Amino acid sequence: MRVASESLESSAQEEISWLKDQLLKAQRLSTVGTVASGVAHEFNNILTSILNHAKMAQKPTATPESKDQSLEKIVAASQRAAAIVHGMLGMARGSMRRENTDLCKLVEEVLLLGGKDLSKYRVTVEKVLPGPVMAEVIAIQIEQVLLNLLINARQAMKNGGKIRIEVRENQAMGLAEISVTDSGCGMTPEELGHIFDPFFTTKTPDADNLGGTGLGLSICREIIDQHHGRIRVQSAKGQGSIFTLKLPAHQQTLRQAA
Ligand code: ADP
Repeated sequence: MRVASESLESSAQEEISWLKDQLLKAQRLSTVGTVASGVAHEFNNILTSILNHAKMAQKPTATPESKDQSLEKIVAASQRAAAIVHGMLGMARGSMRRENTDLCKLVEEVLLLGGKDLSKYRVTVEKVLPGPVMAEVIAIQIEQVLLNLLINARQAMKNGGKIRIEVRENQAMGLAEISVTDSGCGMTPEELGHIFDPFFTTKTPDADNLGGTGLGLSICREIIDQHHGRIRVQSAKGQGSIFTLKLPAHQQTLRQAA
């Protein structure tokens, strides 16, 4: 009898862990979906630039120097397009292994995907990326968390605004930290107490979006917990918010730096 109930319990556990995994994947695809129109727009810009430079190089008046310049521009634009595709594919089916990762590079990749969506809504981004800050993470999961924080920040600034994204190493605590600061609507202490509850949302549907699911931050916290890290939030109504991810820094890299 006891054996039967134990095996029932373990199959229920397996089912729960499978469902959690599916939810995580669905949320990641939905996050990528939110920035997809920005990515398509960016691709259009890149293609226009490639086409224009190719046409310039074809002109009978083009000199060897101007042709070289056009080719350089075409190569640079194509590389940017390839990096965006790489980022999209990575988010859709990247490795689920923990790897020693430079968080500054990871932030650049996330901004490559989400940047156009931000500028479309008149949000400017200030980056503070001081060179390699290493942590052992599942890169696509931390990208998912960051993209989620950026989308939330942008949605908190209905009339545009500013996001500051900073990566730093907290050597004393052995942490690698990423903070996302916005100049948006901020939150009341009451709201702040619920933002990690599944299905808590203050976003109602309007012409621009379908409203919130309230799942983003609860999934972000789950991911950060699995990385043995923490999410800290500071916010004041009308003054903006700061979300800080604190992840264990890569020990060997930290020791070398020390
Ligand atoms: P959703 O975005 O679907 O509402 P989340 O779990 O991502 O779900 O966020 C829950 C709630 O937390 C949001 O509805 C909003 O009220 C609040 N929130 C999250 N990020 C911010 C932010 N940067 N500024 C203000 N409020 C925020």
